[in-house]
Amino acid sequence: MSQKNFFDFNFESLKLFLNEELNIEEKKIPMRSKQIWQSVYKKGSFEINNLTTFPLELRSKLEDLISLQRPKIEKTQTSSDGTIKWLIKLFDGNEVECVYIPEKTRATLCISSQVGCTLNCRFCHTGTQRLVKNLSFAEIVNQVMIAKEQINDWDEQRKITNIVLMGMGEPFYNYDNVKTAVEILKDKEGLNYGAKKITVSTAGIANKIPEAATEIGTYLALSLHAPTDNIREMIMPINKKFKIKDLIEQCKYYSSVVKEKITLEYVMLRGVNDSMECAKQLVKLMAQFPCKVNLIEFNPWPGVQYLPTEREEMEKFGKVIQDAGYVATIRRSRGQDILGACGQLRTESEKKKAL
Ligand code: SAH
Repeated sequence: MSQKNFFDFNFESLKLFLNEELNIEEKKIPMRSKQIWQSVYKKGSFEINNLTTFPLELRSKLEDLISLQRPKIEKTQTSSDGTIKWLIKLFDGNEVECVYIPEKTRATLCISSQVGCTLNCRFCHTGTQRLVKNLSFAEIVNQVMIAKEQINDWDEQRKITNIVLMGMGEPFYNYDNVKTAVEILKDKEGLNYGAKKITVSTAGIANKIPEAATEIGTYLALSLHAPTDNIREMIMPINKKFKIKDLIEQCKYYSSVVKEKITLEYVMLRGVNDSMECAKQLVKLMAQFPCKVNLIEFNPWPGVQYLPTEREEMEKFGKVIQDAGYVATIRRSRGQDILGACGQLRTESEKKKAL
């Protein structure tokens, strides 16, 4: 039979596979599966041969059955602020980006869920790249594995404290793979990121939010970016399908299940959504469910038609929200010089035309 790639298994399917393929007592399968799982995801060991808990004979059998190959890094770019962006080449030749953002007391890894995107938000660089494909859960998790390997992030030396699905693509349009990837990220015997260390960001696929509340359960960020349907529709075509009212209802539900505030992301576009009137409308909207707002500096990219709001104006906008009693933070832009900041990711992958 042909070799399987380890990363295509979740824990359950790994057990099933070993049960079918390894000629060992059935009751030992969970233990053996756990040993491999821990060695890869906890210790970052990518050699079956290093699995010293396995008898030699079993190791060599396993080597025939399973490969631990990972996609390769095509390009590494390091920003003057320490942010690192990796361009990763997947086995099928498509390319995807992920970004490591170190701060004083924590470090965030921003990963992608799709190659390209269907949404076409006017201010987002990824939106200019048509959707090429949904990433498999293995391709999502492997971005984390690759980053960890690069910065030696294993055992006690863990540096990545938070993971955000805020890279390329819309996570809720690749729901099943995102769900399985998050399960793997959370697994205590493996990567062990708590649900509250992971944030899934959505442009507002309202009908997926309830499922995500019970099945994914991480922090949720909603890319709101406008307080009214009129403005939102101009900058985010997805608003034609899912209106702000729907989003509020679903976010209300999400926060009641997960018992955390929703983070509203609000990229500030000069003259578009940054008036004091907008701030007041946003306050009214925020009164309807537990949330806080993250004001995002607009990051330009080649060919874009928008300009960033001046810093001073952003602060004034934030103050209106704070004075109303809500949390508003301003997200500092990171990695702009390497096109690694929010909304700047894009790769050269194109959808192959059907022959
Ligand atoms: N599709 C999901 C995941 C992408 S997250 C979502 O929309 O939430 C990327 C975040 O960066 C989103 O909030 C997005 O709206 C924001 N963003 C996109 N382009 C940007 C830009 N040029 N400058 C700053 N933020 C941007």
